[in-house]
Amino acid sequence: MVTVDEKLEPILQEVLRRNAGEHEFHQAIREVLESLGRVIAKHPRYLESSLIERLCEPERQIIFRVPWVDDHGRVQINRGFRVQFNSALGPYKGGIRFHPSVNVGIIKFLGFEQTFKNALTGMPIGGGKGGSDFNPRGRSDGEVMRFCQSFMTELHRHIGEHTDVPAGDIGVGGREIGYMFGQYKRLTNRYEAGVLTGKALFYGGSRARTEATGYGSTYFVQSMLATRQQEFEGRTAVVSGSGNVAIYTVEKVQSFGGKVVAVSDSSGYVVDESGIDLELLKEIKQVRRARISDYVHAKGEGRGAYFVDAEAGSIWDVACEVAMPSATQNELTGKDAKTLISNGVIAVGEGANMPCTPEAVRIFQQAGILFAPGKAANAGGVATSALEMQQNASRDSWTFEQTEARLATIMRNIHDTCAQTADEYGAPGDYVLGANIAGFVKVAQAMDALGII
Ligand code: GLU
Repeated sequence: MVTVDEKLEPILQEVLRRNAGEHEFHQAIREVLESLGRVIAKHPRYLESSLIERLCEPERQIIFRVPWVDDHGRVQINRGFRVQFNSALGPYKGGIRFHPSVNVGIIKFLGFEQTFKNALTGMPIGGGKGGSDFNPRGRSDGEVMRFCQSFMTELHRHIGEHTDVPAGDIGVGGREIGYMFGQYKRLTNRYEAGVLTGKALFYGGSRARTEATGYGSTYFVQSMLATRQQEFEGRTAVVSGSGNVAIYTVEKVQSFGGKVVAVSDSSGYVVDESGIDLELLKEIKQVRRARISDYVHAKGEGRGAYFVDAEAGSIWDVACEVAMPSATQNELTGKDAKTLISNGVIAVGEGANMPCTPEAVRIFQQAGILFAPGKAANAGGVATSALEMQQNASRDSWTFEQTEARLATIMRNIHDTCAQTADEYGAPGDYVLGANIAGFVKVAQAMDALGII
């Protein structure tokens, strides 16, 4: 059982007390503090000037009303959030999530994770996150546009290319970024392309940004497998989710010769023993915005694909050698981890943010399974956002090959940094510890240099 060092325990207790009821935030803080005992033993100065306490407290938290009018003329009220967590390394950077589950605790956990993730990329970006409890499901295009415009009407005061640069996350893709950018431009009268990332290619977006998170997590798992002289070729994989991250994970795993046999959404999962048909998956999810069960109907009954309702089972019951949870937080439990291990899993790469529960992570690590935490494995998305900012700043546009080559190098560097840090701190193969310590040290060094702010 991993515990928090006794010198860090009071810090944890204070965070729990001051942020009562914010379970996901507690979980993310606890996981990082569990890793830091070895750092403070080696570098006691990080306990000075309340550096860790400061790191656990967001620099700024903005909560606002988002009123909008639905298609029936009714006024709807949502809550908007932007948590500007840490700007020691650069402007706040991180996505915006539109999902009914969004609350301040979830945005804080995401902002905290983002700070370490962004540090690991080696790019000059701080950490932040935002969102709303708005549910885009079933909303018309006009409703989504009016919501995005109202959301940006408040948010625009707090962001800017040198201040805070939001992007997408769950429920926020190219369409929503477009509406938000349009409203920002209108309100500020500035064509400030670098204020948002994840833009479409024809108005300042970066090639490979859409693919980046999924491609990146696959590169990370590839590097991890290589440490044991293993590869994707000929292996079965399960990728949960069917959003951007999942779709491009499937694409990359397939290009490396792996066979993805299951994908999911919140309604359930689809198994296709012959391997997921990527074009069909894209058609269902990106074009039709339909439920995953439509995959089975579109493919045709009796053609090897079937749907299992979320109530009836977990996607992690499907046997695989590589598991890539790419849907949402805490989607893979301790029970799922045991099932995966008994079915022969050898590697787990988190494409989503914190998709494995702490118990699941412990079970994987104790069983000696290769485990890549999200803050390292899914950093390819935000890293490519930083490449989009570079292109915007120089009014340039790179080729797909150039951008993907940068992404691949960044992911290999993140992998190697995590592995080397784990070795250096006496925990070889522990990517959780490696990612937490390497991310922490980068942020802490900068905070230390900037004085008590
Ligand atoms: N939402 C993504 C993440 O969790 C991307 C953030 C960004 O590109 O700023 O890292």
